[in-house]
Amino acid sequence: MKKTEDIQKDLIYSRKNFWKEFSQEKDEAYELCDEYKQFLDECKTERECTDFYQKKLQNMGYTELKDGVTGKKYFRTSRCKNVAIAQKGKLPVSAGVNLIVSHIDAPRVDFKQSPLAQDSASGLGIIKTHYYGGIKKYQWMSTPLAIHGVIIRQDGTKVNICLGEDENDPVFVMPDLLPHLAKKVQYTEKLATAVKAEHMQIVFNSIPYIDSEDKEVKDAVKLNALILLNEKYGICEEDFLSAELEIVPAGKARDAGLDRSMVMAYGQDDRICAFTSARAITDITAEDFQKTAIVFLADKEEIGSEGNSGAKSIFIIDFIADLLAASGEKNDSVTLRKTLLNSQILSADVNAAINPNYPTVHEKQNAVHLGCGVGIAKYTGSGGKGGSNDANAEFNAHVFKIFNEGGVCWQSGALGKVDEGGGGTIAKFMAEYGADVIDCGPGVLGMHSLYELTSKADIYSSYKAYKVFFLKG
Ligand code: MN
Ligand code: MN
Repeated sequence: MKKTEDIQKDLIYSRKNFWKEFSQEKDEAYELCDEYKQFLDECKTERECTDFYQKKLQNMGYTELKDGVTGKKYFRTSRCKNVAIAQKGKLPVSAGVNLIVSHIDAPRVDFKQSPLAQDSASGLGIIKTHYYGGIKKYQWMSTPLAIHGVIIRQDGTKVNICLGEDENDPVFVMPDLLPHLAKKVQYTEKLATAVKAEHMQIVFNSIPYIDSEDKEVKDAVKLNALILLNEKYGICEEDFLSAELEIVPAGKARDAGLDRSMVMAYGQDDRICAFTSARAITDITAEDFQKTAIVFLADKEEIGSEGNSGAKSIFIIDFIADLLAASGEKNDSVTLRKTLLNSQILSADVNAAINPNYPTVHEKQNAVHLGCGVGIAKYTGSGGKGGSNDANAEFNAHVFKIFNEGGVCWQSGALGKVDEGGGGTIAKFMAEYGADVIDCGPGVLGMHSLYELTSKADIYSSYKAYKVFFLKG
């Protein structure tokens, strides 16, 4: 007679807890996360991520993919906001590629194009803003903020700005309303509307410009800001019209929890997948895998993958076409189409792990649990899988098989209870090429907040999963 425990072990699916079942890999996980935290500190915008990988890949001997180049390791950047990385496998490119797509933009608050003003009521210099992506506006009030971005002058020269990260830098703040006076303006409102977008103004400066002859100067505080900006960066107000300035939480990524088992940082959605997939592709060597491996770091996922730097643009297809040519293969439209149809894609994006403060929005059995490995979501979307890729069962099975063979800690999980809300990823845009696509990424607590919480177990498991996908997929 079989023992009950053996029958249960044979028949019942249960997700594995990394800390219990993969404890021998704990040190490796912690080590990887030290590097990950550094990456997050250096890369708080899509442009910073792109610069970071451009330099890193050049140093690692990757060749920029251009006409006439040959080799096995390539990269390409686009618009300073996209990165593609490729390693040619043993098989021809036209046999299909293994592609991992993630995004390097994150929810934030942007400067308006004409941002500088002097508030008439308070007399303070302010910055007008326009939020980007799905934020909860109240979270951005009364917290230290930094300004990152570029100003492009009309002669094409670029001014890089990063202000608020160095401990000697000033920081910026959007002052919230004191509770004493919040009764009517905020407390009677719903959470989503208590802080309105137009309330999200930064206090920029407060000292007025003083005229040498003591004449009355209009908007003297704003004028003083312009003088300081001109001294420091050589810019004038019109230059802001061609700037991309992003407001993000100031400060560094931190270990979280008494056991330091977690990471708390801004922008982990989805730089967690950008970092782990880029690390995976640069850690493998061409002798070890069959299909060409590609990592694509996209911009603009948080606003629908639109624009020429979003995943809907032709950038990655064009890159694959040029890879075909660089490998001496045909790259006409039929060959390119067949290559894409033969390909496999992981849409590497974060999932919502069960939140102990709000467990009711999750369905425990089908949710991702923090610390139980990389999550695989067959579908996302909302309203009956609307707007979802819904991966084929065959591809699910293939991915689970290679992850099991590769010793990856993984779990299956969807985002939230049915009809609780929902959200989409890049998966459906990638699926338009006809390739097999599935969502695969770690769980996060407090997704889209200023300080997202992730597990070192899941970060490491994502890295390992992506590596196994390239090696065995
Ligand atoms: Mn995401
Ligand atoms: Mn997101």
